[in-house]
Amino acid sequence: PAPTDPAGGSSARSTSGTDAARLVAFLRATFGSGTTKPLAWRRAQLRALRRLLIEGGPDLEAALVSDLGKSPAEAQVSEIGVVMAEIDHALRHLRRWARSVPVVVPYAVAPATARVVPEPLGVVLVIAPWNYPVQLLLGPLVGALASGNAVVLKPSEVAPATSAVLARLVPEHLDSRAVAVAEGAADATTALLEQRFDHIFFTGGARVARIVARAAAEHLTPTTLELGGKSPVWIDDTVDVDAAARRLAWGKFMNAGQTCVAPDYVLATPAVAARLTAALGRAITAFYGDDPGASADYGRIVADQHVARLAALLEGEQPAIGGSVDRAARYIAPTVVDGARLDSALMADEIFGPILPIVHVAGLDEAIRVIRSREKPLALYVFTAMRSVERRLLRETSSGAVGVGVPSAHLLVPGLPFGGVGASGSGAYHGKRSFDTFTHEKAVLRKPLAPDTFALVYPPFTPRRESV
Ligand code: NAD
Repeated sequence: PAPTDPAGGSSARSTSGTDAARLVAFLRATFGSGTTKPLAWRRAQLRALRRLLIEGGPDLEAALVSDLGKSPAEAQVSEIGVVMAEIDHALRHLRRWARSVPVVVPYAVAPATARVVPEPLGVVLVIAPWNYPVQLLLGPLVGALASGNAVVLKPSEVAPATSAVLARLVPEHLDSRAVAVAEGAADATTALLEQRFDHIFFTGGARVARIVARAAAEHLTPTTLELGGKSPVWIDDTVDVDAAARRLAWGKFMNAGQTCVAPDYVLATPAVAARLTAALGRAITAFYGDDPGASADYGRIVADQHVARLAALLEGEQPAIGGSVDRAARYIAPTVVDGARLDSALMADEIFGPILPIVHVAGLDEAIRVIRSREKPLALYVFTAMRSVERRLLRETSSGAVGVGVPSAHLLVPGLPFGGVGASGSGAYHGKRSFDTFTHEKAVLRKPLAPDTFALVYPPFTPRRESV
């Protein structure tokens, strides 16, 4: 029987415990009915999601301006465009991804055939943060739909305008029997986390990740944890410093530094640091003019408490560039602190704002020691013309990803896994890996009853007395 809608609409405004239980039961009934399994349904949903992004584009852009002062051009490249590319990639490859794959059968088991059959997991939960509130909610949804699951989407309440637009657009465009948006704050997420899901895909910080992982353990639900950390940069004097500074300024000051893969801090010798600081000044002026506060291309900090947190990081520091804070406008200028100390507040936690500390080191050996003494970051960026330096950093450090000559852009390559390692997360997605994340690989062995080659392995293993 067709499942009935729990509350006359599949978008639960603020999810209480009973709402959450009803919502998951409703989606589970849809999944159980087989609605989401056919490739035709999955493709139709991916195309509908594409239409959502196109027709809802102006509303999403306006919401992103309201939440983050994000320029529509940046929203198209870093939010809507990323999801669009994932949809197109999935549509192109879905038939192949969803095929069962034959595998070789060892002689001991022959004659038989064996294959790996991908099957959807069931009802999955996607929890998103506020910094890329469209990309980080709908990007994982592409994988969840491509692999045929029912989905609960939990947007971040810290980007309220985007959350509200998504809660309206998703039921308008997607099959509301199978995809629901549950808005709300920590209490709503807590209510959702009490339910049993077949996978939880979480993007956010380590504190909440622990809460999610504990709740998931209660139901033995597998998780993907997309977290953050301090992504370091190594730059030496073999590169064009102006070109490198433009790349760094782009990756760092996009979205006012509120990017999980943004360069967090730079390690350089004092001489390179001085040249880089001057070049960063030129890049910032070229991008945002003399007053970035007046540029429509420069974003705002998402909420007052984050402005306060970032302003506190600057206390006692003497920025070489920027440093001004306008609390009322939630504005923090693009800021560079040359000669930041390793034991300063700037170097304690992920900055997640437009402040770039440059830490002086004696050379590559010391830089590698600093990187290795800290948690494994989500990304590591390298600016050098020397392949030997690049190779050493690759071999001697661990991070979710490495960008040589460019920050953040690895997430635009669908063939590359996007995810962390250690404290920066576990599991990965994008492209085929998104499909795999929400898929169970079912092992299927098929062996004819005759000839019964297994007679050789049946007991008794020792000769019976009467047959001796
Ligand atoms: P967060 O961990 O505070 O919140 C993420 C989500 O968890 C939100 O939807 C929020 O409503 C929910 N939540 C908050 N408190 C909760 C609680 N007590 N119980 C249950 N759910 C709760 O993260 P954030 O501040 O939105 O995002 C910033 C962090 O996310 C940074 O550390 C950043 O590096 C990381 N991040 C990682 C990626 C990535 O792809 N790896 C991308 C963006 C951001």
